[in-house]
Amino acid sequence: MGRDRICNEVDAISEVLLSISIYLKENPETAYLETKACEYLSAMLETYGFNVEKGIGNVETAFRGRPRGYLPKRPAVAFLAEYDALPKIGHGCGHNLIAAASVGAAVVLSRVLGENAGSVAIVGTPAEEGGGGKVKLLEAGIFDPIDAAMMFHPKDRNFPGRNNLGRIALKMEFFGKSAHASSSPDRGRNALDAMVMAYTGMNSIRQHLKSDGRIHGIITHGGDAPNVIPDYAAGLFYVRAASRSYRDELFERVKHCAEGAALATGTEVKIEIIFPSLDPIRRNAALEDALQKNMQLLGIPIDADDGNRGSSDIGNLSQHIPVIHPYLAIVDPGIPGHSVAFRDATTSLRGRQTLIHAAKILAMTAYDYLTSPQLQEKVAEEFNNTE
Ligand SMILES: [Zn+2]
Repeated sequence: MGRDRICNEVDAISEVLLSISIYLKENPETAYLETKACEYLSAMLETYGFNVEKGIGNVETAFRGRPRGYLPKRPAVAFLAEYDALPKIGHGCGHNLIAAASVGAAVVLSRVLGENAGSVAIVGTPAEEGGGGKVKLLEAGIFDPIDAAMMFHPKDRNFPGRNNLGRIALKMEFFGKSAHASSSPDRGRNALDAMVMAYTGMNSIRQHLKSDGRIHGIITHGGDAPNVIPDYAAGLFYVRAASRSYRDELFERVKHCAEGAALATGTEVKIEIIFPSLDPIRRNAALEDALQKNMQLLGIPIDADDGNRGSSDIGNLSQHIPVIHPYLAIVDPGIPGHSVAFRDATTSLRGRQTLIHAAKILAMTAYDYLTSPQLQEKVAEEFNNTE
C-alpha cells in the first residue's frame, strides 16, 4: 500500500532531509540571491535520480526537478521548495524546512508512484519574502503543465490551511523644492510635509477599514538637514485585504491620500508598485480534506485557526491551480515566525520531527490525488466553482 511505503521511504532518507535543513540554515541567502541553496538542492535531487534545470522562467535561482525519464503525464503535481532567508535573522521563517520537506516528498513519490498515475515534479521558488518568486514563475508559464501544487509551512500550530490576504507593496515619493528653511522658506515646497499629510490621511482611513483590511508602512526618507526645506521624501507601504477587489480599492484610497497631499503642498507625487502584487489564497476544501486525513493518520492534532493573517505568493498560484499550504507546528503556540527562537527551532528535535511529518503528509496527499480520479474530479469541480 502506497501510504506505508511512503512513510518507510521518508524515514529511510530522514537524515538527508535533516542535513538539507541544516545546510540552508547555516547558509542563509535572501530573496533572489539563493545561489548556494539552488546549487545544493539541485545537486541533491540529481543524486536521487532527478534531472534539474536551473534558472527557469528567467529567475536565476529558481529550478525545476523531474525524475529521470520523466513523461509529461497528467495530472501533474509540483512540490514547491522555498529557500530564501530573512535579512539579518536568517531562516526565521523556516523556509529551510519547506525546501527539505518538498525534496523529501518529491524523491519518495517519484519512487512510489508507479506507471499509471500522473507525474511529479519539484519547483524551486525563490524570494517568497517580498520578491514574489512564484508570481514570476507563474507568469513565465512554469506552472502551465501542472495540475496541483503543494508545500507546507512551519508555524506554532497545526492546520490544513489558512485564509491569507492579498497584498500590494508600494513606494511613495514626493518631490518638492529645496530652499533655506529660515531665510527663504517662501521659495521652497516641502516634500516631508506632503509625506506627513499622506501618512495621516492613510491613518484616517484605518478607522473605516473592513476587518480584513490592512494599511501599514514606514517613512524611509524625510530630508537631509533641518535648515533645508526637504525637496524629497519617500516611504514604503503595504495594503492588504482578503479579496483582490478590496485590496485594489484600498490601493486607490492610498493613492488619493498621496495626491491630496501633493496638491495641498504644491509638490509632485510618484507611486510605484515595488513587488509583484500578491493575491489572497483560494483554498480547495477537497484537497485540504485529503490532507487533513493524512495529518490525522500520523496522529497530528488539528488546532483551531489563530485568526492571524499574512500574505504569500502562493496566493497568486492558488488562483491558477489548486494548491495546499498546510501549517505544522515546530514551536509552542505564541512563538512568532520571523524570530530567532523560530529559526533555532527549525533544527530542534521537534523541528526535525515536523520536517519528517511534512514530507510524509505532502507525499501521501499527492499520492491520493494522483491515484484517485474521483478526488481529481472533486478538486477540479470545486476549483472551477469558487473564487
Ligand atoms: Zn515563510
